[in-house]
Amino acid sequence: MAASDFSRLIAAAADAIAAHAEELTALDQAIGDGDHGLNMKRGFEAVRAEAEAIAAKPLPDALKAAGTKLVMTVGGASGPLFGTLLMALGKEVPAAPDRAALTMALGKAIEAVSARGKSQPGQKTMLDVLQPVYEALAQGKTANEIADAADQAADATVPMKALRGRASFLGERSIGHMDAGARSTALLVRAIAEAIEGS
Ligand code: ADP
Ligand code: MG
Repeated sequence: MAASDFSRLIAAAADAIAAHAEELTALDQAIGDGDHGLNMKRGFEAVRAEAEAIAAKPLPDALKAAGTKLVMTVGGASGPLFGTLLMALGKEVPAAPDRAALTMALGKAIEAVSARGKSQPGQKTMLDVLQPVYEALAQGKTANEIADAADQAADATVPMKALRGRASFLGERSIGHMDAGARSTALLVRAIAEAIEGS
């Protein structure tokens, strides 16, 4: 991937988070502590600020650098988890991945998030979007279909009961609200899918 392409992915991701920060905050206010929008915005703006240096690296190193930056800046439960996702992706992808290599790397990265969070799909977290995105990628779906699958998966967290993260403290009262991390994951997936499609 050319440096300019990775720069565009960073900009697209940071723009999507910035445009929806208030929505993410509101979701986290309903069943968490209301910091998710600000956490994510801080992290992605920090990555954006170093986009040039990050994008100049080979793809595996660029992903690791972006992940490290997210761990240092997002905070909360989601920072280490999104950071782990990108760092593990960086560890697994070749410099110029085809779809098969990307799919395999995403599968491994999701396993790393799952291990780090001691969590599984079905517990009302970001994993409930990541797993269907992996499946859509493995099934050869288009970028648009993958983005739609991510949105549907985030919507599908509404009726779930949270079993991990702060929302789990609410038990049954977590039912009826979308998980904030699932929503931010879907936003990132759409932003990246559209940016890749456009290149
Ligand atoms: P905090 O919960 O510390 O305030 P954030 O508000 O930034 O952190 O992020 C909350 C999001 O992190 C949740 O909506 C959920 O998607 C995700 N999350 C929390 N704990 C876990 C976990 N153990 N495994 C996977 N995702 C998790
Ligand atoms: Mg929070």
